[in-house]
Amino acid sequence: MPQNNPNNHSAIGIIRGQSKLTDGNMSFARGDISETVDNRRRFLRKQGLELENLVAAGLVHGANCEAADKYHRGRGAFLLKDAIPGADALVTTESGLILTVTTADCLPVFIWSDDGMVAGIAHAGWKGLAGRVVENLIKAARKVHSIPLNRFHIHIGAGIGPCCYVVDKERLKKFIGYPMCEIHWREGETAHLNLNAIVKVQARRQGVPEENVTVTDECTCCGDNYPSYRRDGENLKPDLAFIVKREFTNQ
Ligand SMILES: [Zn+2]
Repeated sequence: MPQNNPNNHSAIGIIRGQSKLTDGNMSFARGDISETVDNRRRFLRKQGLELENLVAAGLVHGANCEAADKYHRGRGAFLLKDAIPGADALVTTESGLILTVTTADCLPVFIWSDDGMVAGIAHAGWKGLAGRVVENLIKAARKVHSIPLNRFHIHIGAGIGPCCYVVDKERLKKFIGYPMCEIHWREGETAHLNLNAIVKVQARRQGVPEENVTVTDECTCCGDNYPSYRRDGENLKPDLAFIVKREFTNQ
């Protein structure tokens, strides 16, 4: 929500969102990419945003978070190869820079401060979470805007839910040390992994209060609204998750 600043008659607000299946393919890496630019432009315009201001994380299923600035504007907007290399998370204090990740079952995780001065986003699948990508996101946000941790907010977007995310014991072992009550076991050799719960644990470890963490809580795999890597196969059309710090100046 925009906040009024009595000093300079401007307001700062955070806008964030996640495209849906009906918005079409948003990725340059998967499926039919011929309409990706048009789909991105159309989706962002609905939020009053322009594609030229987009910055994309390179997405390597890692846990690295990079700080983006105005010199990164447009990186990865039109081409996969010039996205920020080696990054699965981005933070910025720059107004108007649209930080993005594409997802399909992996969780988009958004972070912002209550004064709207910093915005960040992470692509969090099991590999990134095993590398603590959300903890790195929080640390990076605090590094560029050093305020108390209870002034940071996190939102977990739509991703695969524990209902559908069946994993083997090898993958589950990556999360030893996380409270077992938050991992849903099934009889035999498999378990249902709750990625939302893992994000919450990482937020808590870094000192972001639980009441500051909200969740879309819609499973991409068994719901109808979002793309799913596990469900869609060849027809996969990844979504675009974005966050932007906007400054409005009263004329
Ligand atoms: Zn499900």
